[in-house]
Amino acid sequence: MPLLDEKLHTIYEEVQRRNPGEAEFHQSVHEVLDSLGPVVAKHPQYAEAAIIQRLCEPERQIIFRVPWVDDAGTVQINRGFRVEFNSALGPFKGGLRFHPSVYLGIVKFLGFEQIFKNALTGMPIGGGKGGSDFDPKGRSDAEVMRFCQSFMMELSRHIGEYTDVPAGDIGVGGREIGYLFGQYKRITNRYESGTLTGKGVAWGGSRVRTEATGYGTVFFVESMLATRGDDFDGKRVVVSGSGNVALYAIEKVHQLGGVVIACSDSSGHVVDEKGIDLELLKDIKEVQRGRIADYATARGDDVRLSATGSIWSVPCDVALPCATQNELNRADAAELARGGCRIVAEGANMPTTPDAVKLLAEAGVQFAPGKAANAGGVATSALEMQQNASRDSWSFEHTESRLAAIMGTIHDRCLATAEEYAAPGNYLVGANIAGFTQVADAMLALGLI
Ligand code: GLU
Repeated sequence: MPLLDEKLHTIYEEVQRRNPGEAEFHQSVHEVLDSLGPVVAKHPQYAEAAIIQRLCEPERQIIFRVPWVDDAGTVQINRGFRVEFNSALGPFKGGLRFHPSVYLGIVKFLGFEQIFKNALTGMPIGGGKGGSDFDPKGRSDAEVMRFCQSFMMELSRHIGEYTDVPAGDIGVGGREIGYLFGQYKRITNRYESGTLTGKGVAWGGSRVRTEATGYGTVFFVESMLATRGDDFDGKRVVVSGSGNVALYAIEKVHQLGGVVIACSDSSGHVVDEKGIDLELLKDIKEVQRGRIADYATARGDDVRLSATGSIWSVPCDVALPCATQNELNRADAAELARGGCRIVAEGANMPTTPDAVKLLAEAGVQFAPGKAANAGGVATSALEMQQNASRDSWSFEHTESRLAAIMGTIHDRCLATAEEYAAPGNYLVGANIAGFTQVADAMLALGLI
């Protein structure tokens, strides 16, 4: 990782010491601190009030036992987490991730990212994240429901419209939010719609929330292209993943005239030169809950399935990593640059490793960090909170135009901030500084809390 200036390095070492073994959290902190040298130099009040040290320490961390009974009648135990990281701008806000890799370090990295991402949306939301090491894959609906009910039994004590508002993330979609919300309603005997986002449209959810992260990432890239007088027309796009973010990124690229030629899941990737057949992919992933190999089988001879190679070796103009953290390493970045890629925008959270980010910069490939490019999901969650608070329900067109406007504003804010801090065109620096200064100024105003 690149070297930090001395004061920031001392803070970073302290974060490592206080949070042993949490590699992903350290990585996310380092990535933000790496941009802050010029900010600390310009604004001594941040150092005087120990803003960065305070930002790196969550306001509250909750770890709890989640007991549940599987279909065979066996008692299972999982671990639940909610990290309430920073509420200077509004109630804690961020998703829940259910995946076997989840431990405190993953939840803290995601929560830390969420603080700055949420600030960039311009909406009044603080940052938090939660989840469990529960693996919904291969579990029946009834098992998922029992797990969600037990998880909410404890989580319900800590959340609320004005306190902490969870949503989905990897492994938590509409089905899980439904079971979680049902249990919350039963425990509290209150229909508090604004306590969870990502709800179904029929029961308090927002239109476009399902599509929002993927659509938002593509809107962000549309703005990046527009700064060069370019657009998506005819662009070859590679999208990793085939979950909620990837599916709707593919949909929006196709609507804007680009062609997505490859996508993936944890078992491999497919290359479909004619363009991914989205209806087929949605049916396999969302209805059948199948694998990417099923897509290749269904499409026949036209489609190659690769179980071993990297999806980033497929030549493209735009790459959208939409799967998970650290999925695009330095060698992948070199392949992308060699294949003519001009833009990498993160649909997932921190999918690009620090040395890959560095290589992309050296190769002149534009890079949009997740905290800016994938902020459309949480921004639309804030729009859902707004509709819940006013007992309203907006049309698809209205909600999508709000999302598009928010993404355009985030894009412009990143560029303007990068320019102000002598890093023109550097979206990573712009996003980190713009998000940080907004939260830091709020923390200064609120006093030592
Ligand atoms: N999990 C999403 C994210 O990473 C959305 C969070 C939310 O809607 O609260 O931003």
